[in-house]
Order: sequence, then C-alpha cells, then structure tokens
Amino acid sequence: MKLIIFDCDSTLSSIEGIDELARAKGPEIFSEVEALTNAAMNGEVPLGQVFARRLEIIRPDLATCAAVEQLYIDTVEPTAVATLNTLREQGWKIVILSGGFKRLIEPLAAFLQIDRIEAVPLNLDENGFYISFDNSYPTTYNGGKPEIIRQLKSEFTPEQIIMVGDGVSDLETQSEVDSFIGYGGYTPREKVKAGADHFIYRLDELLALV
Ligand SMILES: [Mg+2]
Repeated sequence: MKLIIFDCDSTLSSIEGIDELARAKGPEIFSEVEALTNAAMNGEVPLGQVFARRLEIIRPDLATCAAVEQLYIDTVEPTAVATLNTLREQGWKIVILSGGFKRLIEPLAAFLQIDRIEAVPLNLDENGFYISFDNSYPTTYNGGKPEIIRQLKSEFTPEQIIMVGDGVSDLETQSEVDSFIGYGGYTPREKVKAGADHFIYRLDELLALV
C-alpha cells in the first residue's frame, strides 16, 4: 500500500487551530499565542517549549472547541476534497498527522473521509472546562512527527510514503519519507521551501507529483 500523510493546520485547512482558540479569548491573548505559534513553526523556538505555555494561556472550553471545529471545515483548502478523492482512487491511504488537537480536527477529518488522525489529545471535564493536554504525545515536541511516521511505517509497511505540510515540524519528517512536499498556499516558509523535494501552492498540484 501507499501512504500519504497530511499536516492539518495551514495545509488541509487555512487556520491554525490553536490561534483560533486564542482569538476566541480576546485580542491580547490572541497576539500572545500567535507570536508563539509563528516562532515555533519558523523553527525559532522549540515546539515543546511553547506548547504548554499556549494552553495555559488559553485554557479552551467546550464551546470554544466547537466553534473552532466548525471553522476547520469552513476554511478547508479549496482543492482538498477533489484531490483526496483522486488520491484514494489511485490507492493511497490518507492519514492526518498534526500538532493540533485531535478533537478539533475530527469533524474536518470526517468531512474529508479520513479515518486516521494522529494529533494531540485534549482533556476537558464533564462540564466542558479545560483540564489538560497530553504532553507526552509526540507532536507536542520537535522530532515528534518523524516518531509517529516510524510507528505508521511499522503498522502499515507501505511501499511508498509521502508527507505534505507547511511547517518546519513537517519538514523534520523528510528523512523518514520517500518524498516531502512543502505546502505554501497559506503560509509559505523559505526554510520549508528550501528543504522540500517539491513545493506546491494548491493541494491539487500533488496529483502531478505522486
Ligand atoms: Mg501546519
């Protein structure tokens, strides 16, 4: 089988889920969190360092989560549905690998008919208040995405494996995959573009590359 793995935020959808959680908490919290996200995605600050800090600032609740879940679907990449359908017809198994929160991404994944999501567990209590995130989950730190890809490789033993994403944490997977395809439709990054085997601005450009 052939495995194609997609980052979620700023790739399958235009948003960064954590930034949107922060936006819902007001402009000051938003700018503080956005700066941390950008620093991490540009590779200026280790991801593990900003992850807990962002969550402690935001402490997202159930209503905020629900709004962001819908936003992921509303801002889906314009060519994603058709591209993923074609990839499936061509025999590709599709996986989402994200440093975002699993519960926020699940509705988008269902919309895109993707049944496998690797993303960070977020724990709320029975009243919908924030408790914690799983800080042992690999995508909360640098080097976590390659770690998950090694697990997927031993689970599926794919004959071919491709990763698609916009961030430095995606580029880190390059040594584990046959081809790393950078995506710059929303947040093109020079570092990712320079390191990628290919660089695209629309997901349907993938179809000429796989
Ligand atoms: Mg991303």
